[in-house]
Amino acid sequence: MPEAGSASAALFERARRVIPGGVNSPVRDFGSVGGTPYFVSSASGSRVRDADGQEYLDYVQSWGASIVGHAHPKVVEAVREAAGRGTTYGAPTEGEVRLAEAVTAAVPGCDQLRLVSSGTEATMTAVRLARGVTGRNRVVKFAGCYHGHSDGLLAGGGSGVATLGLPGSEGVPASAVADTLVVPYGVVPEIGEEVAAVIVEPAAANMGLVPPPAGFLQGLRAGCDRAGALLIFDEVITGFRVARAGASWLTGVRPDLFTFGKVIGGGLPLAALGGPQELMSALAPLGRVYQAGTLSGNPLATAAGLAVLELLDEAAYESLGDKVARLASGLEEAVAAAGLPVQVPVFSTLTSLYFSGEPVADYDGAARAAESGLYAPFFRAMLEMGVALAPSPYEVIFCSLAHSEAEIDETIEKAAASAESLARRG
Ligand SMILES: *Cc1c(COP(=O)(O)O)cnc(C)c1O
Repeated sequence: MPEAGSASAALFERARRVIPGGVNSPVRDFGSVGGTPYFVSSASGSRVRDADGQEYLDYVQSWGASIVGHAHPKVVEAVREAAGRGTTYGAPTEGEVRLAEAVTAAVPGCDQLRLVSSGTEATMTAVRLARGVTGRNRVVKFAGCYHGHSDGLLAGGGSGVATLGLPGSEGVPASAVADTLVVPYGVVPEIGEEVAAVIVEPAAANMGLVPPPAGFLQGLRAGCDRAGALLIFDEVITGFRVARAGASWLTGVRPDLFTFGKVIGGGLPLAALGGPQELMSALAPLGRVYQAGTLSGNPLATAAGLAVLELLDEAAYESLGDKVARLASGLEEAVAAAGLPVQVPVFSTLTSLYFSGEPVADYDGAARAAESGLYAPFFRAMLEMGVALAPSPYEVIFCSLAHSEAEIDETIEKAAASAESLARRG
């Protein structure tokens, strides 16, 4: 098992004394892949450098927040410039207006935006808004979709929760999830007139990658329309990642409410919910659905987000799509050549790696692939060779605009060698 260098190991030991588990988000502790996490000291472009000076080609990219790569000069300059003018005021700023203008101009059907500080807040507020405007309580979510860690949405979550193998979390009262119905991804459920909202990742990216099967999102749209329920697309990962206008535009299915995060904050804490004015005006101060935030629309975060959105033109998505397609087909070929079961689904600029002999269509399929036990040793072999994949089999592979074709080819070669060594060990 590769051991992190001594500086990372020493930091982890110190961290565990003062931070539960040594980390501030569970998946970072390497619990599902083994070994000691590397502590990052700096990052640039496609690479992160750890406390021991070891460099890794990074496919975590802050779980997708860094689409242009780390420390992009334009983003760094925007944040530096903004910081010089003060880091938070508790009063409105032009930056918030400009970011909201940029997002609403890019995403059809999203006419107004409320900025918050995390994806968790965005989805929590979107659900509250849907309940407020419909006067109903029931929320339908899909197993393996992750919508942050608010009580009501922490039932059958993917990502960290799936990794921990917990159905939800202790500390969440049954009453908090009594109105949350969890159903399998990819199958249109019955949507009754008690349903306030159906919330879905339009391409599921927190149980590996499960693209929406044909007709699924259309079926949800039709079902919500029939029942008078709102359809919420959680585009915290897909927004500004799979296309500038997101997965709704790509799939041609328009939700009632959108949530965004990760990319739109340019690597700073920022997320948003949006939708048509008619719905959004139910939020305080205009309406009676309450929501607030001390750091909401933070000037550093809006500056970083705007700098990133300015870099994301048509050519950027085309280039990112080409890189991901090259990586995905290379990975699939490399792992298959070693005789291991493999699936590498692709949805535009997203991809993931399952050690599975059959396509993965839902959370059960993702869990079966994880049970192969092949991901952890593969992860460790890759890390040893300087390639940092996500430290969990339930995550996607995040490529950035900074990854070069040569780096992708290098990744594929190392994947071939890693898969070979796994196959030899049997
Ligand atoms: C990451 C994520 C969230 C939660 O966002 P945080 O900023 O971590 O609170 C919500 N939904 C999806 C789809 C995500 O990937």
